[in-house]
Amino acid sequence: MKLLFSHENRLVVGNIRNVLDAAGIDTVYRNEFSGGGIGEVSPFDAWLEIWLPSEVDYPRAAALIAAAQQSDESPDWHCRSCGERNTAVFELCWNCQLERPDEAGADDA
Ligand SMILES: [Zn+2]
Repeated sequence: MKLLFSHENRLVVGNIRNVLDAAGIDTVYRNEFSGGGIGEVSPFDAWLEIWLPSEVDYPRAAALIAAAQQSDESPDWHCRSCGERNTAVFELCWNCQLERPDEAGADDA
């Protein structure tokens, strides 16, 4: 098992996992259920992690993650509801889970 990715924001981790799933790469979550125990553990212990059972997949998985996190094509977008800034990899606002608007328009607000 190899640790592939970890992030404090579960939506980011879920998004990365979707990318890996779509590519047919097997992944395992760690800390998936530790969210309920916050207060007992330090915030870092509760970070959701993606582990790779088969290290053979690592180069491909790492490349997919890098591509997923790169948002050259798509600019960051601002949530219409709460105004938080979201990177292009997010389909939902990380803060309030509102869906990304179709037009990830320019800063005309
Ligand atoms: Zn929002």
